[in-house]
Amino acid sequence: MFIDYHVHAIGHDHRPHTAENIEEYIRYARENKVDELGFADHDRYLFEKLDLSLYEEIREKTKDVVIKIGIEIDYYPDQHEEIAKKVGYYDYDFIIGSVHYIGRWMFDSDKERKEYKTWDHDKLYEKYISLVTESARKDFYDILGHIDLIKIFGIKPIKQRPENIFAPYLKKIAKTDLVVEINTNGLNKPVKEIYPSKEIVSLLYENNIGITLSSDAHHPEEVGRDLGLALDMAKKAGYKKFASFTKRNVSYISL
Ligand SMILES: [Zn+2]
Ligand SMILES: [Zn+2]
Repeated sequence: MFIDYHVHAIGHDHRPHTAENIEEYIRYARENKVDELGFADHDRYLFEKLDLSLYEEIREKTKDVVIKIGIEIDYYPDQHEEIAKKVGYYDYDFIIGSVHYIGRWMFDSDKERKEYKTWDHDKLYEKYISLVTESARKDFYDILGHIDLIKIFGIKPIKQRPENIFAPYLKKIAKTDLVVEINTNGLNKPVKEIYPSKEIVSLLYENNIGITLSSDAHHPEEVGRDLGLALDMAKKAGYKKFASFTKRNVSYISL
């Protein structure tokens, strides 16, 4: 049995937000042994494309899969007001905070890859994790998304190991009580690794930081993808319990 707390029902706006589409995700959740399924579309579609009340209706009649309603909200240091507006827009079960941008650079976009050449990679890792740490605000978020996304294209720091750069920042994140996700989508990217690495998962455990599991599915058949690997990684690091959210309150379950 698994939980999958990061699923995009409309992907990158290539799928409709309809009951039929959502049912398709739930069908794959059943097939892939996901008992608790958290929908979390990108916040840029929130006002125009998403009808979150659909989830309430479907949840009423779905007894075998627990449905949670969430959102993935980008973090920008200069947009706190806009973030707060999106946070207050709905009574979510959980909110994922994700850093996809450094300044105006969308560093996880293949089209903007050449920008990596302009950075010292050690400094880039430091800049990225400092932004993630700054985003770790309980009033905004419950879960931090893919916290070493900066490795997406396989670019690594040279002088220091990523986990050594991250270590002091994780201590600060631990104080916020936010949870971090183990996200398997990195396996499908050039880096071909789970987010975050096993060394970072061990540091999360040492710092007593809670975790969820997620596929970051953008298509129904991706629900639950590789979560067995994520669960193994978490258990090897020492984890026995996993975070689950209802109306932004955390509880812990054994898997
Ligand atoms: Zn993301
Ligand atoms: Zn996502």
